[in-house]
Amino acid sequence: MATNSGGWPDLELLEAAPILIWRSGLDGLCDWFNSAWLRYRGRGMSQEVGEGWIEGVHPDDKPQCMETYLQAFAQRQAFQMEYRILRADGAYGWIVDYGVPIHDRSQDFLGYIGYCFDVTARRTAEQDLAVTVAKLEESNEDLRQFAYVVSHDLREPLRNIGSFASLLERRYHKLFDDVAHEYLGFIRAGVQRLDRMVLDLLDLASIGRTPPAATPLALREIVLQARENLGLAIAESSAAVAVEVADDLLVQGDASHLVRLFQNLIANAIKYRRTDVPPQIVVSAERDNGMIHCCVQDNGIGMAPRHHEQIFGIFARLQHKTAVDGTGIGLAVCRKIAERHGGRIWVESAEGEGSTFHVTLAGATAANAAGIVPPAPGAASTRRD
Ligand code: ADP
Repeated sequence: MATNSGGWPDLELLEAAPILIWRSGLDGLCDWFNSAWLRYRGRGMSQEVGEGWIEGVHPDDKPQCMETYLQAFAQRQAFQMEYRILRADGAYGWIVDYGVPIHDRSQDFLGYIGYCFDVTARRTAEQDLAVTVAKLEESNEDLRQFAYVVSHDLREPLRNIGSFASLLERRYHKLFDDVAHEYLGFIRAGVQRLDRMVLDLLDLASIGRTPPAATPLALREIVLQARENLGLAIAESSAAVAVEVADDLLVQGDASHLVRLFQNLIANAIKYRRTDVPPQIVVSAERDNGMIHCCVQDNGIGMAPRHHEQIFGIFARLQHKTAVDGTGIGLAVCRKIAERHGGRIWVESAEGEGSTFHVTLAGATAANAAGIVPPAPGAASTRRD
């Protein structure tokens, strides 16, 4: 920048600059403002110099503003601060103020030049966003509570229907013909199914009520636990479930929720298998930009691309309404858990060609991993179990 007297920037240049500029001398007091500043404030030079400009600073911002300035001044350091100041139109504007110490050719301190920009639009947008987020969180919480209460309350009349259907059958079974027995069977099956759906809904509503613990967990142990929990289904279907997850991959979160996520995905990979080949399932994971990218790959029936988003909705099931047991909530649970762990979930699949479910989770780096079983020290290889 062009300077005169060896140190100060050329005031004529600064005068015409489209940003707000001030200057202060060795005594710390402002002795000059450019015309953009004076126009912004709607005041004259004589009103602004000295401590005049401080009168316009919002009372809530004044202490912080003065402290930043005086501290930086004492140490001759550059500073940056944001504060509200009265504008010519009588409203407060937010400005960001960059103060730069100025020295002459022999490095003697002369004072400060400050460059300011109006950031009211950005601050207003930030405030609007914060208000919107707060409102969203509130309505989310209301919805969650609503789902919880409704699910609870629904179970009582359901139980009544089920018990009276059983009573009818026990007391009057001699009066009923086969068709009546069949109808009662439908009622009981319907009640059972509805009860499972309500329980699953309760389950879904309960995720997210408590924030996940901030303990780093060994991902491999989570996946192994999920596989172990499915031991019976794996044995019954002769499935092969390979776990290709390195011991040193750590995630931050809630162990039981994460186990549930992988358990749901592996269970689905078994449930939606092809009839002609035994299920081959591979669970793998790798680091990806601070996140951990996990894949659960199967050789099952797959699904058409038009269903790829839909299946993560509540009660969303494809063509297997009666063929395969389920309520259509498992993947909604998985999505909620992935999102609660800073990640997301999606599927890649084609009909008849198997599916790969992708999950990203926020990675953890702390050395003090505490999982279901912490990773063995020094064991950092990807083993295939
Ligand atoms: P549920 O298994 O109880 O029906 P989910 O929410 O777990 O509910 O899954 C929703 C639907 O997505 C399933 O009904 C099924 O149609 C489809 N789906 C889920 N996982 C797979 C998979 N691995 N292969 C093929 N289809 C799947």
